Amino acid sequence: MSSIDTLPPLRQVINDYDLQARKSLGQNFLLDLNLTAKIARQAGDLRQCDVLEIGPGPGGLTRGLLAEGARRVLAIEKDSRCIPALNQIAAAYDGRLQIIEGDALEVDPLAHLTPPIRVAANLPYNIGTELLVRWLTPQDWPPFWQSLTLMFQREVAERIVAQPGSKAYGRLAILAQWRADAKIVLNLPPEAFTPPPKVSSAVVHLTALPAPRFPADAAILSRIVAAAFNQRRKMLRAALKGTAPDIEDRLTAAGIKPTDRAEQIPLEGFCALAREIAKP
Ligand code: SAM
Repeated sequence: MSSIDTLPPLRQVINDYDLQARKSLGQNFLLDLNLTAKIARQAGDLRQCDVLEIGPGPGGLTRGLLAEGARRVLAIEKDSRCIPALNQIAAAYDGRLQIIEGDALEVDPLAHLTPPIRVAANLPYNIGTELLVRWLTPQDWPPFWQSLTLMFQREVAERIVAQPGSKAYGRLAILAQWRADAKIVLNLPPEAFTPPPKVSSAVVHLTALPAPRFPADAAILSRIVAAAFNQRRKMLRAALKGTAPDIEDRLTAAGIKPTDRAEQIPLEGFCALAREIAKP
């Protein structure tokens, strides 16, 4: 397998540092450096950007990002066993890689990053959706990031880009498409990973829009969409009963039939409803 830098092949790194994959940490490693460079290229032009990477593991994608010219990479990794392997990459890349050992759900990376910032990660599946929702729902917009290039289980990737009327359409589609352009840019079979997971994966690229497509309060939109799709087969007047005492009137005022189901309502409708619910 050809390499993109002069560091040892990833299989050797795994052996040298004894990095046997742990299921509890969602570890399915990418060991093909041509593939990690290809994923890094999906993140756009990295030369003027700081890149935030969550879960670098043995460093395959990290090396891809650095080889593709990222100005700096800040990598947050929870597994202390990976840190010496990552230090070896940092030494080879002349101060362009900073490593933080910690839990990405707890660490605030912003103090260590200079805009423009892009995020790229082969995410641990157990925290991927939570991080994505956090990145999509800050109160203010635009966010700290210009783009997110993220690996998900294929089924989750399909939920992010889903359109109204489809089974995959729900909270993730609405939150992602409200404030970003989202597309699937790469599909990967289980065999691309070591060890192979049970399901296929896909890389989603999201570009932050300068402003949301329709005005709405992030917290309210997030809350009503969660409630609407929690009981997706119910009519909205029932599914949203707990969100406002006069929910039928507010649905009607937003141009939505109270007997419709969440799956049928486009993004614009949910934003109109969020604005109605925000009214006193
Ligand atoms: N980026 C590497 C690659 O592509 O080969 C590893 C990807 S593996 C799917 C996920 C990585 O995230 C693992 O290295 C795991 O230790 C790390 N991880 C798991 N939970 C984490 C958390 N809460 N915060 C930071 N890293 C985490």
